Amino acid sequence: MQFRNLKLVDYVVYGRGSFNQLNEILAPHRKANAPMIFLVDHFFEGKALPNRVPLQGNDKIIFVDVTYEPKTTQVDKLAQELKEEFGTISGVIGIGGGSAMDLAKAVGLMMNNPGSSADYQGWDLVKCAGVYKAGIPTLSGTGAEVSRTTVLTGPTRKLGMNSDFTPFNQVVLDPELCKDAPVNQRFYTGMDCYIHCIESLTGTFLNEFSKSYGEKALQLCREVFLSNEDWNETSDDKLMMASYAGGMSIAYSQVGVAHAVSYGLSYLLGTKHGIGNCIVMNHLEEYYPEGVAEFKQMVEKNHIDIPQGICKGLTEEQFDTMMNVSLGMKPLWENALGKNWESIMTREKLRALYGKL
Ligand code: NAD
Ligand code: ZN
Repeated sequence: MQFRNLKLVDYVVYGRGSFNQLNEILAPHRKANAPMIFLVDHFFEGKALPNRVPLQGNDKIIFVDVTYEPKTTQVDKLAQELKEEFGTISGVIGIGGGSAMDLAKAVGLMMNNPGSSADYQGWDLVKCAGVYKAGIPTLSGTGAEVSRTTVLTGPTRKLGMNSDFTPFNQVVLDPELCKDAPVNQRFYTGMDCYIHCIESLTGTFLNEFSKSYGEKALQLCREVFLSNEDWNETSDDKLMMASYAGGMSIAYSQVGVAHAVSYGLSYLLGTKHGIGNCIVMNHLEEYYPEGVAEFKQMVEKNHIDIPQGICKGLTEEQFDTMMNVSLGMKPLWENALGKNWESIMTREKLRALYGKL
């Protein structure tokens, strides 16, 4: 038995207004003539937040377009431009949802590793530590703030740069930054966390480490999404910690069916992670009966419409592509269905499931 030796984030600060400590937090990591680069979600362009970024010397804010999930080409271009403009940099700080945080992790790694980020999509392929990296979520749910991966769409696959060099050196968890998130987006990203909990807690890889974080995250998700009160500051406070704990739970177990199927959607159709997971979860009664019933309650309570019929009109070749991507996620299936998963999730069964979405 080989036990996972889990690399964690080095430093965590939590609290409303903790963003104001950023200057102090970054100070010891500044190197002479090497700027801090802030990759800020384009939503914040023209808003108040960029004015609060503690710029010094030749520091730079780059607004990143997260309309589509991060691509290896986007990462390579950002890293190349930074190398050309500055030579070296002191660090990269990602401010935004999972997309901006993943971009920051990947660009930070690519500042010190040769070639293309596509060369490192997989497990433990990254050879050198990147530059200093910090993550500051403005949406709660993905767990990207704690994970050892950065999910990228590359030329041949959608896969993370999973490595011990990938986790952030610092995260700043300031729930105040989530206050303007649109209702739907907040729900979809929040449900990513809820689904992490269900997949982890019902999976065959479950252990007390994952369980202790998963149960807490699940409780917080319930308090937030099944509450009779309107959304308020406490909801954001709780959901930010749910995301963190949910991320810790899957870090020591694995996700399951919703993620495996949703990866196929996102590869072929570009469906974003949070909404894709919701579209799939809506049809997973057979695998997660209680989780799906509660998920539907949350959907109703929060007046969310989950898109239907997104696979209508696709060709058999396209279904095949999605199935190949999905069935390639072996650890996810094994966690969900056990060692015998291939005899349970046959191509016919998966084809029928995609047909319903
Ligand atoms: P996102 O980062 O893709 O952002 C979704 C939308 O919300 C964007 O339009 C963005 O501009 C906007 N937004 C962000 N913060 C906002 C705010 N405070 N107010 C208003 N709008 C805001 O969404 P996400 O669900 O957080 O992240 C999804 C991404 O995370 C995917 O690329 C997925 O692959 C990745 N992911 C990574 C991991 C990991 O472990 N690294 C885990 C899960 C998902
Ligand atoms: Zn997820």
